[in-house]
Amino acid sequence: MRCVNRKAKCLIFNFIRKKWKLELFTCLLSSSKKKWYIISGDQLMEMKSVSQYIQKTGLLSHLDEYLFEYDKVSILVDTNIYNRYQKVIYNALKQQHIDLVFQSEDIQNSDVVVGIGGGSIMDQAKYAAKQRHIDCILIPTSPATDAPCTSIAVVEGKYIECGCPKKVLVDEQIMAMAPLRFFVCGIGDALTTYFEAQHYDLSVSVECLSRVCLDTLLTYGLQAKKDLEEGLLTSAVSKCLEAIIYISGSVFSNSGSSAAHALSYGFQEICKDVMHGELTAFSLLVQLCIENDERIHELRSFYQAVGLPCHLKDIGIQDICDEELMKVIEKSMSEQYTMRKMPMIVQKEDLLEAIRVVDAFE
Ligand SMILES: [Zn+2]
Repeated sequence: MRCVNRKAKCLIFNFIRKKWKLELFTCLLSSSKKKWYIISGDQLMEMKSVSQYIQKTGLLSHLDEYLFEYDKVSILVDTNIYNRYQKVIYNALKQQHIDLVFQSEDIQNSDVVVGIGGGSIMDQAKYAAKQRHIDCILIPTSPATDAPCTSIAVVEGKYIECGCPKKVLVDEQIMAMAPLRFFVCGIGDALTTYFEAQHYDLSVSVECLSRVCLDTLLTYGLQAKKDLEEGLLTSAVSKCLEAIIYISGSVFSNSGSSAAHALSYGFQEICKDVMHGELTAFSLLVQLCIENDERIHELRSFYQAVGLPCHLKDIGIQDICDEELMKVIEKSMSEQYTMRKMPMIVQKEDLLEAIRVVDAFE
């Protein structure tokens, strides 16, 4: 009986194999007759992303869990972070050989660079890891920008492609302790991401992420700010942190910036005590004005509610003449920035007029 069953199984198997071969042959024959025309261009789709993103409270106290595979760990910090967190870091990494350094040049013989701090430390850690061909792990202590999850490092004013970090670890408790203005600036920086990314050829997933980034910030941004004001770490705060750091950074790494960021770098020359996210947020209004985008009104209402700048005076500029504004505009149009990414040719006069229109809104 067992033997008959086996024979039957063999027959069935051979039948299926022959039929499959025949179908494959027919398929190849028919496809060989078909002519294919590539009409979308010869494009390579490559997604840049951090290998691991973790966001939770009290993460810094358990740093060993995320660094167990490394023997020699260099931790790059600034003096503020060192003074505030050195005990937590040493306690968490008792079993490992760690070097706490303040300058990237002091990193030696390490398997990994761990940057703990604000945007500048993130950039230095990314660049140091790239130069030494070792892993980079980032632990941001400020929610003011999307820098941690991007592949770019700004070093001495130049944009350097470093690849995305291996891990980005976000301790929500540390983020909540940062000044509230930093959180609002992070929202301002991340709001530009959707509108600037639309000027690039986006993959489906990046397009979706960019929409989610915008929707999350507009839906939960105000509530998150109110929660933080009351000292509450809520799901609205978590969602916004994810949008600011992970989603915005991931979209930027797979697209890029455009007029809003370019103009913000022009304003940076004369606005000394204004943060990056505030300058990009105001500049985004100018970009939308040039594009005749009706969503400028929705954004202005949101800005007024969360405290992002709507007028020149909000970024510290009072009674500026056209000649001075032209210097800002000329700087923003220099080759190193991304004004050229706009879908239309933008003239200096268009930008001047748009700045004046945005500033004249009630
Ligand atoms: Zn930015």
